[in-house]
Formats: sequence, structure tokens, C-alpha cells
Amino acid sequence: MAATATLTLAAGKEKSLLRRHPWVYASAVARVSGRADTGDTVRVIGADGRFLAWAAYSPRSAIRARAWCWREDDRVDEAWIAARVRAAVARRAGLGRDADALRLVFGEADGLPGLVVDRYAGQLVVQFLAAGVERFRHAIVEALAEATGCGRVYERSDAAAREREGLAARDGPLRGDVPAPVEVLEHGVRYRVDVVGGHKTGFYVDQRDNRALVAAHAAGRRVLNCFCYTGGFSLAARRGGAADVLSIDSSAEALAMAAANERLNGWEPSRWWQSNVFDALKSLLAEGRTFDLIVLDPPKFAPSVRHVDRAARAYKEINLKALRLLAPDGLLLTFSCSGAIGLELFQKIVAGAVIDSGVDTQLVRRLAAGADHPMAMTHPEGEYLKGLMLRRM
Ligand code: SAH
Repeated sequence: MAATATLTLAAGKEKSLLRRHPWVYASAVARVSGRADTGDTVRVIGADGRFLAWAAYSPRSAIRARAWCWREDDRVDEAWIAARVRAAVARRAGLGRDADALRLVFGEADGLPGLVVDRYAGQLVVQFLAAGVERFRHAIVEALAEATGCGRVYERSDAAAREREGLAARDGPLRGDVPAPVEVLEHGVRYRVDVVGGHKTGFYVDQRDNRALVAAHAAGRRVLNCFCYTGGFSLAARRGGAADVLSIDSSAEALAMAAANERLNGWEPSRWWQSNVFDALKSLLAEGRTFDLIVLDPPKFAPSVRHVDRAARAYKEINLKALRLLAPDGLLLTFSCSGAIGLELFQKIVAGAVIDSGVDTQLVRRLAAGADHPMAMTHPEGEYLKGLMLRRM
């Protein structure tokens, strides 16, 4: 084996690693001595020569290295990686008793930067999004199969994320064959998940707790679900006894899957409306419609900090319209999954919509992803999903 290369940080750039933030940006690197290829483990030292971390080297990425660990006597090899995978799976042992769609590994939060693993019943879906976890892909798949007993593993690595790492796009079965849509049961609702062609790994696993919250508040309510995708919140509302559910999405494919999920549960069809939500909200207002529970769970409006201003206007617009559509005592569950927009800013944007709507509103609670999507306390970028539950007074 070649000797381990050393990555030396520029003077003053050691602070973030000392604070256990796992990313080393290219601009923080003074030099790399020794030979280091994509995915190799390098020794990271400060300008003064002191040891800081073992990290995965990624020469083509703006995040030039991702720290595996901060202990000099750790040896990052296949056994070490496998132990981290097993630990991540074991940490979820108490979760998902009444739900068989669960995130088993969530990147930095589990000490495995760039690795995402979701379990849908007996099917695992894996994303290798950084050079380090790519290097250990075989050990990871092996450890996952062993820790979960799942014989089926499918790769759905996001191509754009891999491109930023200089990795070729990859998709396809790693164990077992190409899966047909997988059926999962979550809090008594059946959903079919297309792990091959669906968004992300096929389903918005992160909204599980919030779907349960919608079910708990849906009884007798007229529900509007905007950006419904394959019907997650809509079916939760039906399960909770909603009087009526109207669901909107621009994708015909997503709506077809949503309607199929509704049939799968043996329910009479509700209304699945193919439309741009911005236009749909306008026409619902013009018709004088009102709702008792509204869900706004749009796609990431701000893919990066450069998009924050435009995204803020879009969030404000849909929230303003939704507030105007709320009946007295109605509830609004509004979300943002834009990492570039923190909770504080999101709350400010929604407060702006409240002011403009002239509707007195209380914040009932703050919402986030479930406990299978933890965040490393030293890596706030890991907290992307935030939401507010508001009540019209
Ligand atoms: N709330 C969903 C996830 C939403 S994903 C869930 O819990 O499963 C975002 C969805 O918004 C996608 O299905 C996409 O088709 C849809 N979408 C994106 N822009 C839209 C727009 N302007 N109008 C309507 N739907 C839109």
C-alpha cells in the first residue's frame, strides 16, 4: 500500500476542523504531499503541523476533503467503515416500528459523509455522493446487507452530486435485481414506492412524523395538499378521517402514482389536480374556496445561497395565498427543504406572509425531519427540512 498522503491546511484554516465541522474547502488547503487519489484517506494537519483529522480526499470537489474522524490512532479501513455502518443501523433499531420506510444512514450525522441509505421494507436504496464512501462501496454494501438482512440493494446516487465530486453517474442494482415498485406500510397507510424512477430514493421518508401529525389533525377537515407528489400527506389525511382532500402537483406521473396509492388503500378516489400550485392557489382564491388544513411542501426553491432571494419571494407568495384560503381555526403546515434557508429566515418569510395576509395566526409548533434524519451538532448544513404549523385565529 502506498504511504498515506498528508494534506496541510493554510495558516488559520484549522478552526473549522477543530470545531469538528467535517468539510475542508479547497481554499483552506495549502498543499498535499505524497500521492493522493480520489477517495484516498489523507492525514490532515494544521499549518503548525498538528494532527487534525483523517479525511477522504476529493481532488475535483470544492469540498476537497471530508473528515472521517478526529482521532489520530483510528485506522480508517473497511472494518472501520463497516463498524460505522452497523452503528448507524443499530441506532435506528427503536424507530420504524409502525413504518417500514426508514432512513438507515444519513451522511455526516452518522459519521459517513456522502452516504445515504433508505430502507423500504426488504429493499435498500443507497446513494454514494462523495469520493470517500465511493471508495468503500463494497464494504458498505456488505455491511448493510449483513446488518439489515436485506438481500436487495439498489443504487440511486444523485448524478449532480456525484458530478461535483468528479464521479461518474451510477444507478442500478447492487444486490438482487431491478426492483419493481416496493410496497411500504406507514402508520396504517400503504404506499407504493418507485425506487428506480421516483424522486431521491423514491419517497419522502423525512416527512414521516409530519404525515402522522396531519393524520392526527385531519378528522372532519377539508384538506388541501400542495406539491403532493405520490400522495404522502393526502393519504395520511384520508387515514385520519379528512372530510375531503384536494391534492395538487404539476407532474402527471406523480399524480398517477398517488391515485394508484389511494386505490391500493381501498379508498374512493379524491381529487388529484394537475396544475402549477401558484396558479391553482390563485384560482381557488378567486372561487372563494376555503380549507381547514393546508399542507405546503414544495421542492427546494433555493438550491444554493445564490437563489435565496428569489426563493424567499416564492415561499412568501404560496404562504400568503394559503393563509388567505384558511378557514377560521384552520391549520397550515408549511415546509422548506432548502438548506440555504435556515429556520429563522423561513420563519421570517412566513411571518411576512402573515402580516400581508392580515390574518391573525399562531405558531403551534415547529416541524423537522424525523429521528432517522439526525444532524451532527457540528454540521448545521445537515438540517435541511424545516416547517411551521400555524393556526388561523
Ligand atoms: N410533499 C411531497 C414531496 C414534494 S416533492 C411528499 O410529501 O411526498 C415536490 C413536488 O412538487 C414534486 O412532485 C413536483 O412534481 C412538484 N412541483 C414542483 N414545482 C411545482 C409547481 N410549481 N406546481 C405544482 N407542483 C410542483
